[in-house]
Amino acid sequence: ELSLAQRVGRIKPSPTLAVTAKAAELKAQGKDVYSLSAGEPDFDTPQHIKDAAIDAIKRGVTKYTAVGGTPALKKAIITKMQRDNALDYKPNQIVAGTGGKQVCYNLCQALLNATDEVLIPAPFWVSYPDMVLLADATPVFMYTTDATRFKITPEQLERAITPRTRMLWLNSPSNPSGMAYSKAELTALGEVLRKHPQIVIATDDMYEKILWTAEPYSNIINACPDLYDRTVIIHAVSKTYSMTGWRLGWAAGPARLITAMADIQSQQTSNPNSIAQVAAEAALLGDQGCVTEMVTAFKRRHDQLVADLNTIPGVKCLPVDGTFYAFPNVDGLMTKLGARDDLELSEILLQKALVAVVPGSAFGAPGHIRLSFATSDKVLQGSVERIKALLA
Ligand code: PLP
Repeated sequence: ELSLAQRVGRIKPSPTLAVTAKAAELKAQGKDVYSLSAGEPDFDTPQHIKDAAIDAIKRGVTKYTAVGGTPALKKAIITKMQRDNALDYKPNQIVAGTGGKQVCYNLCQALLNATDEVLIPAPFWVSYPDMVLLADATPVFMYTTDATRFKITPEQLERAITPRTRMLWLNSPSNPSGMAYSKAELTALGEVLRKHPQIVIATDDMYEKILWTAEPYSNIINACPDLYDRTVIIHAVSKTYSMTGWRLGWAAGPARLITAMADIQSQQTSNPNSIAQVAAEAALLGDQGCVTEMVTAFKRRHDQLVADLNTIPGVKCLPVDGTFYAFPNVDGLMTKLGARDDLELSEILLQKALVAVVPGSAFGAPGHIRLSFATSDKVLQGSVERIKALLA
């Protein structure tokens, strides 16, 4: 048998994509599957963004650009971060890449060594651990429950830190939990981090705009400005502007680290797509009304879905702060349906109820499932009915 690099054995393909593939297979067999597994908004990319891209093609913006993004795109990103986050960056502190995912990956490659540990609050976005493993470092998980609304506490952070800890991932609002850290909570985490200057903080702000808390959005730098020099913000147009297919994300952080990330990218994929860069500029600088419209729809569906889920015997779902995910505890449902764990439950829901969800184990939170409400009311209500029918 052909032998592969050892690093391949350390990772697994994205489990969320695996569920989507299984659901697609059933659909191809003619089954009417309700899919709540998607990690992307169900809206079309707004017209003014598409128009900017079409115009870019017509103008011939179809060649290589600077590896880390055009000066114009960097300027748009800097403008966005000043406007929305009250944070100042220079062009050499920004690198744009092919989606938030590539930027996360390159951050790990640029920062981590084999002896390093990376702290990952669980539940986590599925790619963090594997990206750490691909950089030869060790993921260290900090498990949470609904008792803290799936957020780590300062004590827990303190306990997890060792002399080897090199990085901490933060993701607020969180995929999959939907929860966001308040400014006060981030301030408390910052007090711990202040004592450990070797730790770089990676804050994945992908869902910043998809938020409906009374308190406005803060990331860890807003809460603790003194951590600016060792924090990397990761962001993308993917979720905010329903642009997942365009593949455009960025990182903002210390110039030395950002330059290293761009150097890695220069030997890997070079610049992100030139047309997507123009589209991202239009998204960041254009009318933000499209974002408000999408968020209003997500919030409305959230309220309905969370209420409906809580009428299913054995399901306990907390309302969430943002994103388009609900993350209920399904221990009771597992017992009622004779499922050993959330993986088996998800399989039963898919095969017997034709409802596709992602098992919580994929995110480091067994006993839960993730349901995406980036889909129609009909599918959301129908899914709840199908699950109830299974119990009847
Ligand atoms: N970070 C989080 C928390 C995500 O949920 C996702 C997408 O699923 C990404 C990063 C990657 O986003 P992109 O599509 O821009 O690569």
